[in-house]
Amino acid sequence: MDLGLTPDEMALQARAREFSLNVARPRAAAIDREEQYPWDIVKALTEAGFCGMTIPKALGGQGRSFLDAVLVIEEMAKCCTVTARIVVETNMGAISTVMAYGSEAQKQLAARLVLAGDKPAICITEPDAGSDTTAMATRADRRGDVYVINGKKHWITGAGVSKLHLIFARVFDERGQELGTGGFLAVRDERKGLRVTRREQTMGLRGMPEGELTFENLEVPADMAVLPPSGFRRGFADLMNAYNSQRVGAGTVAMGIAAGALELALDWVKTREQFGRKIGEFQGLQWMLADMQTQATAARLMLHAAARSRGGDGSAFPDPMLAAQAKIFASESAIRIVNDALQLFGARGYSRDLPLERMARDVRMFTIGGGTAQVLRTLVASKMLGWKLPQTRDGYLPKPSMRDAAE
Ligand code: FAD
Repeated sequence: MDLGLTPDEMALQARAREFSLNVARPRAAAIDREEQYPWDIVKALTEAGFCGMTIPKALGGQGRSFLDAVLVIEEMAKCCTVTARIVVETNMGAISTVMAYGSEAQKQLAARLVLAGDKPAICITEPDAGSDTTAMATRADRRGDVYVINGKKHWITGAGVSKLHLIFARVFDERGQELGTGGFLAVRDERKGLRVTRREQTMGLRGMPEGELTFENLEVPADMAVLPPSGFRRGFADLMNAYNSQRVGAGTVAMGIAAGALELALDWVKTREQFGRKIGEFQGLQWMLADMQTQATAARLMLHAAARSRGGDGSAFPDPMLAAQAKIFASESAIRIVNDALQLFGARGYSRDLPLERMARDVRMFTIGGGTAQVLRTLVASKMLGWKLPQTRDGYLPKPSMRDAAE
């Protein structure tokens, strides 16, 4: 299919496909079974230049686009979801936040770590603040030239393996006055007070640790606060904008898993015989295949459009509306496609000998992490209607700073 890609984009895609087939695919089952973060894959990705591709050339990166990242992510996800997620998180999300809003020193720090293979952790979710980020309780108190962070996050991707952390917290000045919500950069093990206190037991994506982080008097130098031009008071919304790139990346992982499952299913229906015929000769299965392909193509086109877009003048991030719609559609259709692909394999699809069951577990996450499909629908509806849609029962957001951030 002609996706309107340039020769350079097609060459990058082909290089990613080769890596995926030769390096990631042979490791995928063991990564899942052993539940170990694949440092060998990280090394190979780094050497191949797939980590930090979107970092500007001036900082040692390749200055590649989000679309370039999307092309690589899809190819990786066809064979190994954990590999694909490493590519997402070394090119989108926290790293793009720092590149968009960070000081020169912050950019240098983030670029150095990511280009060496570090997958930054983005720390927002808390036990009592999931979809409702305004309920965040983690706080950063200014004490002289540091911020002292206390609180707890959970479901943090890369807990215990990531070095760079972008920690979101409510910010208070020396007098205890709340200033808003900010992002703070901390490097694990360089400072006391950042501990992994639990590893989540996940359904899929088992080679990528998800964990609980506890901050106990974690001191972060004041110049490690990532401050958008709008400052702390309105800066949370700007910082959260970075999630629009992460959402496109996450949607692409889901679509890539689906595309990989579909490729396997297509080969299978041309091989497997029942009733003296290839099972692909049954019209019921042909229509299933056509629906799977249609959904995968639509998801791919939406993700490409979102990756190419920008959310307004000068924005470094994809358009929120396109990113949200692409993630909703890609994540939900990917679950259906993988489920149907597994069905086409019959009992074999249910076996751990084949990757379908792993794909079915892995793909389930993408309607949850990075903004659930329900919450993203509210975002889309809010933009369509041109209304703010506060979700509290009486439409009231208790803290003024949080009200600003949610606008
Ligand atoms: P809740 O907010 O409690 O939602 C429960 C259900 O209610 C959901 O179905 C939700 O859609 C629905 N719901 C809630 N509010 C509304 C509403 N207003 N309208 C309609 N429906 C609603 N977080 C990070 O900060 N960093 C990470 O690196 C990270 N990685 C993750 C990796 C994985 C594998 C997973 C599963 C999660 C990760 N998360 C991470 C957390 C993720 O962002 C949250 O799980 C997500 O925002 C939802 O929060 P919750 O789980 O508390 O669900």
